[in-house]
Amino acid sequence: MTSERSGGCQCGAVRFRVWGQLGHASVCHCRMCQKAFGGFYAPLVSVREADSVEWTRGERAIFRSSNAVSRGFCSACGTPLTYEAPDGMAIAIGAFDDPSGIVPIVAYGVEGKLPYADAVPGLPERKTEEDFAALEFLASIVTFQHPDHDTETWPPEGGLSKE
Ligand SMILES: [Zn+2]
Ligand SMILES: [Zn+2]
Repeated sequence: MTSERSGGCQCGAVRFRVWGQLGHASVCHCRMCQKAFGGFYAPLVSVREADSVEWTRGERAIFRSSNAVSRGFCSACGTPLTYEAPDGMAIAIGAFDDPSGIVPIVAYGVEGKLPYADAVPGLPERKTEEDFAALEFLASIVTFQHPDHDTETWPPEGGLSKE
């Protein structure tokens, strides 16, 4: 069984495709991953065992975060894309067009875990449209985010407009 998954950065300048099986999916709480993602932790899935990884549009920019590890990102919009170590590469789970089935099974770097990270899943929940004061603002929003599928040309000819 071969599977194929696409993804990319928020602006669409960098797109990728992975053929074959994904490896371990994880979150990493270490301080370097917090910085690299601007988040509480980094959600990453190994593509070490994948048949191939192709950059189908653009190229990721690279920051060497240590002598051993590089971090790939989009230089146009800043989306974190990869963690690249001598033993293989992992891709940011949220960058996939459909991240819903890529389930983390282990948490690394927990010595760096922020004191409130475990409380996040229990926070009171609100849907975006529950904020009535913001409805008019929300209705006026035109997204410039690349859609969750590959596109022939991007940005679209004629520019981005509200659908
Ligand atoms: Zn981008
Ligand atoms: Zn880490």
